[in-house]
Amino acid sequence: DPPIRAALLANLNSKQRDAVLFSHSTALLIQAGPGAGKTRTLTARIAHQLTMGVQPDAVIAMTFTNKAAEELQERLVSVLGDGGKGVTAGTFHSVCLRFLRRYPDRVGLRPNFAILDADDAEHYVTESASRFDCQLPRRQLVTAISKAKSLQVPPEYLVGKAAEILSPSHLPMAGQVAVVYGAYQNRLKSDNLVDFDDLLLYGLKLYRDHPETVEHIRHVFVDEFQDTSGLQYALINAMAKDCMLTVVGDSDQSIYGWRQADATNARKLMNDFPGCGFVALDTTYRSTESITNVCKHLIAQDLSRPSPPSFSTVHGRGPLPLLLSFPTDIAEANFVAQEIDRLIRASHGMLKYGDIAVLARRNVQRDPVERALLSLGIPYKVAAGSSVIDKKEAKDMLAFFSLVIGVDGAVERMAMQRCVNLVHHISWKEYERPSGSKRRPPRKSINALITYAGQRKLGLLNAARDAVAKKAISQLVGDLRALLRVVDSAREEFERTKAISPTLAVVSEVLDMDAFIHREHSDKPHEERRRLQVVHDLIDMGGAFDARANEGGDHEIVRRFLDMATMGSGVGRGSGDLVTLATLHSSKGLEWPVVFAIGLEDSEMPSSIHGHSELTPARLAEERRTLYVGLTRAAMILEMTWHRKHGVGASQMSRFLRQIPKDCYIERKHLRLRREDWILFGKLLGRQVPDKVGLDGEYLPEEARRAEEEEISEKPERKELEPEVLIALHGGFVGAKSVKSSN
Ligand code: ATP
Ligand code: MG
Repeated sequence: DPPIRAALLANLNSKQRDAVLFSHSTALLIQAGPGAGKTRTLTARIAHQLTMGVQPDAVIAMTFTNKAAEELQERLVSVLGDGGKGVTAGTFHSVCLRFLRRYPDRVGLRPNFAILDADDAEHYVTESASRFDCQLPRRQLVTAISKAKSLQVPPEYLVGKAAEILSPSHLPMAGQVAVVYGAYQNRLKSDNLVDFDDLLLYGLKLYRDHPETVEHIRHVFVDEFQDTSGLQYALINAMAKDCMLTVVGDSDQSIYGWRQADATNARKLMNDFPGCGFVALDTTYRSTESITNVCKHLIAQDLSRPSPPSFSTVHGRGPLPLLLSFPTDIAEANFVAQEIDRLIRASHGMLKYGDIAVLARRNVQRDPVERALLSLGIPYKVAAGSSVIDKKEAKDMLAFFSLVIGVDGAVERMAMQRCVNLVHHISWKEYERPSGSKRRPPRKSINALITYAGQRKLGLLNAARDAVAKKAISQLVGDLRALLRVVDSAREEFERTKAISPTLAVVSEVLDMDAFIHREHSDKPHEERRRLQVVHDLIDMGGAFDARANEGGDHEIVRRFLDMATMGSGVGRGSGDLVTLATLHSSKGLEWPVVFAIGLEDSEMPSSIHGHSELTPARLAEERRTLYVGLTRAAMILEMTWHRKHGVGASQMSRFLRQIPKDCYIERKHLRLRREDWILFGKLLGRQVPDKVGLDGEYLPEEARRAEEEEISEKPERKELEPEVLIALHGGFVGAKSVKSSN
């Protein structure tokens, strides 16, 4: 369709357009810094191909997160209408899963295989290990097996390749690890289960051994190419054999080295796809000059770069980023919450909560921030970081749901185990909990039920029914009765509505999840809120599937829902106008007008906690890139914070920030925004600038502002204010009017 095509191209600069139209060879690599429009160009290139008559089902797009895939799909639909539907977009895992669901038998899986999430996988590994008396600590064992899988090393070759997989001190245990690994694989096979690593391995096997399964594909697109692992690269290579391959990436943003990501994939690409085209984009559209400037200084510290980064920004200078320190993490968190409140007010409706993100290196760092946001009544959501549902509540509800719709074998066993424990836990809390005690009841084994079912050749759920009717298996009968009450109520609802969301709602209602969560976490309001959110998100997510239900058969939709829920798509994101809390890692590819990067003390950034205890130069460089990814998410306002007291000791500012020239940021504990700044934001966001904005108390004439900035940069000790003074200052932030007098 020519008019759509013209409109598509009109929204791009000339290099982006070249990349969209490129057709000189069968592969194209687009390299560019953050915000240069890589993802936008990739999307436009897909849309362009569709307007040229390429069929949607001939297009595969691989992104790093489910959210990115959803955004891509939305963009395509917004440009092309219904013509934009039907493109396969997802993470490497979900794309592989889609093909494996279609052709399970080709790789030796039975139909309806189930996916083992990380928790359950760990459980299986532990079980296998206990049979072989393996000395390696459980966590390391799980990691080692996963690493072996991602390096495509089968159990029988593990000993030979042990040096790549185990740490030197664990090398003597390679033999044991191999045995456990082998037993684990056998159990997965006999139980018809695949873990996350298997999804990729079976996918690779499918594309390689049965190329006919992917021969209809004409185009393969990959975003965030810098973070593809060796195995993922092999997948791309196998899938794109006779296709047009387009990959986009930025090696400065490579942050998954610890997951065997391989930044040298670009070189492999050039080898495997001779004549591969190359386009570099050099203009950044996301951030103001002030923000881009700080980010450039940060990444220029990486001495392995061939030259300092040189991209230019199309936007004006904008306000300088802030760099602030606080006595404690609580003071820091309170500042962030108050600053958000102040910004929203000062914007007179121009900024929304959804424009703001708070980023931290580690998940736990956001706890004080959550408390502070809650206490000011600021709505927020926690971005789903990993690809796995890590919240117990969601897994509990899914376990009940799978019993409701009917599962068998290992899946039924795991679900039954989980549900028995949950109802046991709930009732124990209610009736038997010794006053004041927080101890959990011990895990209840369902072995007696398994034996009972085996003797009668019944499925577990039916055996439970039988046992309850006959009052057999005394130690379990109460719990089984409670469990059946939930399953039966929910099943009635499912039969009536044939819909996922109301069925989940009944599960949650009969279990009284809300009350249970409240009781369990009443001392931690943010934790309670987070878990309630998970439950409600899961129900919402079911609703999204129900809405799509007429696209496929009932059962198909239900299974897809279970798959997606296991893989974590769409869960934990919340909807509406909310501040986002995320890790630096999970912020990749996203953008916000306002970003707070918190916890930037030297003990957290670089973080020495993630898996490795030693900060090698390579790890250090990766930590720096991680910070770079986070800071480059900011479009207009960037505030970097850290706190001085750390546990029992004191901390310093991150070494990465110490090297940034002082004139690139302000250390004053209050951002002043001029009318000009707001006008720039309006342009950037495409929003109307309210008349009042920047005029009341926020406004400082340019000279006064410069004088103040100079004064402050001459007296850096200002940041060492006493706690009392800080609190007084913070008090001033809430009302914009009182701000002038506070400095
Ligand atoms: P990252 O490396 O962080 O993933 P990216 O290179 O993928 O960044 P995009 O997310 O595609 O960058 O683009 C950044 C922002 O700039 C987006 O809001 C996008 O819409 C906008 N943008 C990109 N190209 C243009 C353009 N030619 N004109 C106007 N806006 C643009
Ligand atoms: Mg991108």
